[in-house]
Amino acid sequence: MDWQSLTIISSVLIFCFLENIFPFFNFKSTFNQRTYPNLILGIINITANSLTIAAVLHWIWRQKIWYGFLHYVKLPWLSICISFVLLDLYLYVWHRMMHSFSFAWRFHKVHHTEISMNTSTAYRFHTVEVISSNIPKLLLVWLFGIQPVHLLIYELTLAIELVFHHSNWAIPKKIDKLLSYVIVTPNFHRLHHSQIFEDSQSNYASFFSFWDKIFKSYSYPKYPEKIKLGLSQHTHDLNILKLILLPLKNN
Ligand SMILES: [Zn+2]
Ligand SMILES: [Zn+2]
Repeated sequence: MDWQSLTIISSVLIFCFLENIFPFFNFKSTFNQRTYPNLILGIINITANSLTIAAVLHWIWRQKIWYGFLHYVKLPWLSICISFVLLDLYLYVWHRMMHSFSFAWRFHKVHHTEISMNTSTAYRFHTVEVISSNIPKLLLVWLFGIQPVHLLIYELTLAIELVFHHSNWAIPKKIDKLLSYVIVTPNFHRLHHSQIFEDSQSNYASFFSFWDKIFKSYSYPKYPEKIKLGLSQHTHDLNILKLILLPLKNN
């Protein structure tokens, strides 16, 4: 197993352990009910993603037509920082679009049907959303000439962050609040998963929380323990087939 996979698996296991020892919510569903549809979706998405994105990335990094704007940035650390910020800004815009267009929401709501948010929710995305999110991202990689290692640094950091902020780990409120000024924390993201429509229209960020400050969608929950997770029209756990077919349903 390569070190990248090992890093991701270790982070999942660590946060899974922490949320089971120090849970924020006491969910009624069993560990299997909460985890298995998300893990199946995760496996499908990782496979579909690597099959579609790898060939295009390979082409981008070998072509000699356009080297990208970052080609002119001579300081490697600056290039890493710009790549990281650009990719994260893109993800903010993408996520906000998923909530703004009814067709996109059909797919993104799969993520929001989670009624017992936990580490595995980080993998609960419809495959169509995951694959289509790569198209503008690949364009960004090409346009700016984002280097393979810089893309890898972002993707790995994001993978750990996604597992962290979806986890049901009850980290002390003050620490959560303090961290939320810079990065997305569990309480900060819980509000985005709220059943209350207005609350779910906030906190779109994935890594840096300041995007929500800049674009006026920041909201920190006063009473995170009172948040009702999920969507009011889906109050039961959905199985894997129902999740995959959900975009075809008309509610
Ligand atoms: Zn969302
Ligand atoms: Zn989420």
